[in-house]
Amino acid sequence: MLVYHLPGTFETREHHLDLLWEAGATGLEERRGLIRAYFNERVELPEDIRDGEWLEEAEQDWQAEFKRTLKPVQAGRVTIVAPWQRQEVPAGQLPLVIEPGMAFGTGHHATTRMAVEALGELDLTGKRVLDVGTGSGVLAIAAALLGAGWTLGVDIDPVTIPIARENAGVNGVTASHVRFEEGTLGLGDLDVLEDAPFDVLVANLYAELHDLLAGEYASHMVAGAPLILTGILTAKLPLVRSALEREDFTDVQVREDGEWALVTARR
Ligand code: SAM
Repeated sequence: MLVYHLPGTFETREHHLDLLWEAGATGLEERRGLIRAYFNERVELPEDIRDGEWLEEAEQDWQAEFKRTLKPVQAGRVTIVAPWQRQEVPAGQLPLVIEPGMAFGTGHHATTRMAVEALGELDLTGKRVLDVGTGSGVLAIAAALLGAGWTLGVDIDPVTIPIARENAGVNGVTASHVRFEEGTLGLGDLDVLEDAPFDVLVANLYAELHDLLAGEYASHMVAGAPLILTGILTAKLPLVRSALEREDFTDVQVREDGEWALVTARR
């Protein structure tokens, strides 16, 4: 990649930018007091802009850089990795493979990590789990890998469903253990009521939505079932607490990571 480094900024050398374009630059960029002009070949430049320097730079492979900087995420008993990081899962940890960048839920967000951790603390053996707002499917797949009998992942955004199904396939989790559908709670046709009640309900949404859905959570769960809610900014915790109190949830517990909170409760 051929780059001409010209001292100055777009502002201080405004009048010289046209000269670079006219000389055949294919792109201009400003970085740390330097104008970088990209060329396909070395050319004779006009006198006013000859105070720069031609440099041959290595092609930056953004894809490789992204892959190098992405780290596996340990969430309790589970380690969430990208497909090329399977070898990096420590012995004794359950690998959960998620293709990054396709839908929310790579594990790198504190809320996803806390939710996977909380799922790992439950005995899910044979349980029916509902994941509301499944995104990449990460929580539903985690539940399946942690031994749940059957998990339903629903999302209001239909774009996420094939992505979640693909992620399930990558983890070897079959449709008999996890199903992904466009859906939500309390919205007519999209409601998952026909599959209710569930033994565990997990939802990574946001505080205001938890407040709206708290009654729906209650009506979709068996008595005494654990509820895991996240996507909650710590400043909004009072809203979620009062919604849970209103709907007679008990044993409300909170954990925090920076500005994010996760709430567990029972109904
Ligand atoms: N479960 C994943 C995780 O924990 O990383 C993704 C969570 S992401 C923060 C929230 C997801 O909820 C999005 O995919 C969004 O489309 C979905 N969503 C938003 N409102 C919803 C609703 N009312 N019902 C179902 N899904 C909803």
